[in-house]
Amino acid sequence: MKTLGSGVAAGAALGGGLPLGPASAEAAGAQPERPGTPGRLDLSDFQPRSMLHVKETRVERPRFPVIDVHTHLTFSDRAQGGEQVKVLIAAKEAVAVMDRKGIAAMVNLTGGTADVLPQTLAAFDKAVPGRFLSCVEPAYDRIRESRFAQQQADAIAAAHRAGARGLKVLKTLGLYLREQVGEGPLVKVDDRRFDPMWEAAAAASLPVFIHTADPEAFFLPIDRFNERWDELGHHPDWSFYGRDFPSFKELMEARDRVFARHPKTTFVALHVGHDAENLAFVSESLDRFPNMLVELGARVGELGRQPRTARRFFERYQDRILFGTDAVPPPEGESTPQQVFKDELYEIYYRFLETEDEYFDYAPAKVPPQGRWRIYGIGLPEGILKKVYHDNAVRLLGLSS
Ligand SMILES: [Zn+2]
Repeated sequence: MKTLGSGVAAGAALGGGLPLGPASAEAAGAQPERPGTPGRLDLSDFQPRSMLHVKETRVERPRFPVIDVHTHLTFSDRAQGGEQVKVLIAAKEAVAVMDRKGIAAMVNLTGGTADVLPQTLAAFDKAVPGRFLSCVEPAYDRIRESRFAQQQADAIAAAHRAGARGLKVLKTLGLYLREQVGEGPLVKVDDRRFDPMWEAAAAASLPVFIHTADPEAFFLPIDRFNERWDELGHHPDWSFYGRDFPSFKELMEARDRVFARHPKTTFVALHVGHDAENLAFVSESLDRFPNMLVELGARVGELGRQPRTARRFFERYQDRILFGTDAVPPPEGESTPQQVFKDELYEIYYRFLETEDEYFDYAPAKVPPQGRWRIYGIGLPEGILKKVYHDNAVRLLGLSS
């Protein structure tokens, strides 16, 4: 999940759009000088319509029941003093979408720290048993306390007893958390103070859902060469270029040291192992770390623009890929159309996985929100679909199938 910001919906006008076509003094959006001659056009106004006549399949229901292991139905905020759980959607409203879209269960990753997790469990896991599984999060604001390391381990054990089904670690670790919480040097992903926490997760058989780094383009300048220029224009706070941020490579190396040091802990590396742009690297990681799995959240845009490589990846790692969307209910989710929790989002995932349709939108938005391309389905066979949609999650979460 990306930081929830006040970003405008994709498709809205961006300031300072790049002009296309021959330079002229005309204002953006002005009419051509004469028919057949391009005028100037602001990039934010460019919404080309494909003239391809190709098969369009609507997949309203998945081939097998789905377990979505990456959703955000609640958020909590401790930084504002006094942690509160914010419920983004009523459980019964979420269930209506789930029933329409063939979703058996959803993992709600951001359930809050052990202190407030009971509020989340009451709103979801206990409100509609069997349909929601909530995770606990570390209490980062206690990092300055001398007993922090053991305290976090104890909190995981307590959360497990209360009903947590996993531990969620946001990209906060590595990119936001500092020694004095909001100030001072960044705390590294492989900081030793978290070792007892990783071990406590293993002891409680709780998988760790970890998000490290972000798309590679977020670590590059926001200039005309940046393929996620639109997205960073809407969410400039997602840029990790410059300042004191570690490089993408440094973050991956720190993550690898954690995976290596805690072989009994199961890590679900979110967003296709944090590097959907580089499936060769993700494959190497999966080969190196038997305790690692991946999930798809908010990355069908990346997978679907490399359909042949993606299909081979699914064939090879069919037992270690989990279905996830990074869904955030509206209205919060509207600022990230590739994650908005609604019927259309799931239909795109199903179409990508099940069909060989060509050149379609990866998000329900007028303008592709992550980068200006479209995607191709990978037409997975039933055996792989069943594992990715359902069976791998059942095994990971210890559910009865
Ligand atoms: Zn997420």
